[in-house]
Amino acid sequence: MHNKTLVELSQQLASGALSSVELTQHFLDRIKLLDPQLNSFISTTDELALAQAKIADELRAAGSAGPLTGIPIAHKDIFCTKGVKTTAGSKMLDNFISPYDATVVEKLNAAGTITLGKTNMDEFAMGSSNETSFYGAVKNPWNTDYVPGGSSGGSAACVAARLAPAATGTDTGGSIRQPASLCGITGLKPTYGSISRWGMIAFASSLDQAGPMTQTAEDAALMMNAMSGFDSKDSTSINKEAPDYTSELNNSLEGLKVGLPKEFFKEGLDSGVQQVIETAIKDIEKLGATVKEISLSTTDLAVPAYYVIAPAEASSNLSRFDGVRYGYRCDNPANLEDLYKRSRGEGFGEEVQRRILIGAYALSAGFYDAYYIKAQKIRRLIKNDFDKAFADVDVIMGPTAPSAGFALGEKADDPISMYLSDIYTIAVNLAGLPAMSVPAGFTAGLPVGLQMIGSHFSEPRLLNIAHQFQQATDWHKKTPDAFTK
Ligand code: GLN
Repeated sequence: MHNKTLVELSQQLASGALSSVELTQHFLDRIKLLDPQLNSFISTTDELALAQAKIADELRAAGSAGPLTGIPIAHKDIFCTKGVKTTAGSKMLDNFISPYDATVVEKLNAAGTITLGKTNMDEFAMGSSNETSFYGAVKNPWNTDYVPGGSSGGSAACVAARLAPAATGTDTGGSIRQPASLCGITGLKPTYGSISRWGMIAFASSLDQAGPMTQTAEDAALMMNAMSGFDSKDSTSINKEAPDYTSELNNSLEGLKVGLPKEFFKEGLDSGVQQVIETAIKDIEKLGATVKEISLSTTDLAVPAYYVIAPAEASSNLSRFDGVRYGYRCDNPANLEDLYKRSRGEGFGEEVQRRILIGAYALSAGFYDAYYIKAQKIRRLIKNDFDKAFADVDVIMGPTAPSAGFALGEKADDPISMYLSDIYTIAVNLAGLPAMSVPAGFTAGLPVGLQMIGSHFSEPRLLNIAHQFQQATDWHKKTPDAFTK
């Protein structure tokens, strides 16, 4: 039953072939048995899950079930969950039990989903390999010597290993799409403002966006229907009615105009990945699309601009963790300054401290214009570049990441090379656009994702393209033997 999609599980629950309690217990048992090899969960919430499942079964018996009622999922440990430890992968929050639910969690609970547990992640979502977590690295289920990607590495690995039918993730510069690509699952980063950020621990507020991580595009659409919508508690939430994300799934791709940025296909791209992407694009052409080369001339500027803007916002967001109000506090502080210094020095890991230092420097009086303002100007140029492209094409396609999964430890001491794993994803966040990563093949036994980038609010169309691609291919059905038999 663990290889079934949300849509299939929903049908089984509806027909009575399966109860939510049985389904939930099955996944809890799988997590207990298999997760020690992956470390994809920081905590499991067995009691809560079974209590929610019981209620879901009662709702269904009473005839008031929706499509997701009774379906177990996992939440990235960046979403506050009431009464449950919420760590953001950091020692700083190792003792934090959230007193409330994030809007995303509240909405998914209201849709009837069951919380299996909280998934491992790079500390405060800073990373591309899940190696910066205080709770240890996550392993890629396709090869446990390799990273699953990050920062939503736990969510991607647990869905790929079928320890959860779906999971939530967040994407600030690629953290849904890149791990989805490296683990062979489907991930959607929505248009900025589509999903409330309330109760989602902030990294870089102008870039952070939650989204679903699933087996299929159809499942992502179901999750989006539950997760999205205006929330007055988030001032950047978009005040317009959310669409039905399933509404365009079955449309034809006849006449679809696809742009391939030439900057995405030059040196730096692994040749195995390139081959997979070229084949996938041929498959999309067979479905009726036409393809043309385009240029996104600001591509090389995205990573440098991001590594000024994201750390600047992070240095401000993370100033609340001071050892006074909540979170980690050092032992026996000598005075207030010692309390701040040691609480933050001991509570934050190395990568988080690096970002805080870079951000504080970029925002400091003498350097603000030279770095922060300049980066904001580049951000505008990047957005203009996309606007220009979308005047000509409906969707932009290319690789999600320049390589498949890399070995654990391979890039851990080389931040620049790690930062470059987001070279194709980061510009999308800077421009606030929606994008997906969809399983498209394998190189050297590891999955490769095809990225599809759309214009603002084009999620139903992106889901349509991904769904049609998944009707014509079966990459999304491939599972890692060791975990899915
Ligand atoms: N890997 C990028 C970073 O380290 C993006 C992370 C994310 O999207 N949360 O900042």
